[in-house]
Amino acid sequence: MRKKYVIANFKMNKLDSEIEEYLSTLIPLTVAGTSQIVLAVPSVSIKTASTKCKDTNIMISAQNVSEHDFGSYTGENNAEMIKAVGASATLVGHSERRGGYGENDDIANKKILCALKSGLVSILCIGETIFDRKNNLTEKAIKSQLTSCLKSIYANEFNHIVIAYEPVWAIGTGVTPTNQEIEQSIKCIRSVLTDIYDEDIANSVSIVYGGSVTDLNIRELVKISSLDGVLVGGASLSCEKFSKIISIFEKKKN
Ligand code: PEP
Repeated sequence: MRKKYVIANFKMNKLDSEIEEYLSTLIPLTVAGTSQIVLAVPSVSIKTASTKCKDTNIMISAQNVSEHDFGSYTGENNAEMIKAVGASATLVGHSERRGGYGENDDIANKKILCALKSGLVSILCIGETIFDRKNNLTEKAIKSQLTSCLKSIYANEFNHIVIAYEPVWAIGTGVTPTNQEIEQSIKCIRSVLTDIYDEDIANSVSIVYGGSVTDLNIRELVKISSLDGVLVGGASLSCEKFSKIISIFEKKKN
């Protein structure tokens, strides 16, 4: 049975005090759940959030991690630093990092290797652009990203990897793929993992969908039997909407 995830990405939103307040509301609403709730908060709030979430089923994640160890990398945070202030996970390869900060698959790969060394879970974001989608290149893009991002990562490290299928054109746009398209991409991801590793590994990895998930479209998304979770950006900023997404996801049949 694969682990289920409901992940929030706050991006560069919310002050430390607002995150504390948000968690005061969210924590009591999540006590009975079985899915792993993850909050990817700005790095300056990891300590506050992780302290507040101690002994809850909410895991705190960074939104980014350096691909380097210690050294002269002004403005960066390495995996050990993130872990030391209480994060258990980090997003890697988010499309806003790829698009805005020149991150590529090779850098994402180095970030995962650093995260693994420190025992952090990597939530690896992959997904096609609108150009790929329109030109029938979605599966090619998924294969290429996965192959490069997972270089030198061993099968026994997959308990620290979650894959977030996030089509670039669906992030923050209010547009989502059809359930059939998401299912097809999940199938493609498992097939690539079978080729690189084996069927056991491919079937053990949790794959979540991200891109304009809301408290309204979640009812449709939970019909996807192969879906192990969702990654929610914009809608997660409202605690009311995010907790609704969690409670609808919790009722998912498979
Ligand atoms: C994201 O930040 O990964 C994301 C999916 O954002 P949104 O839900 O706003 O599309």
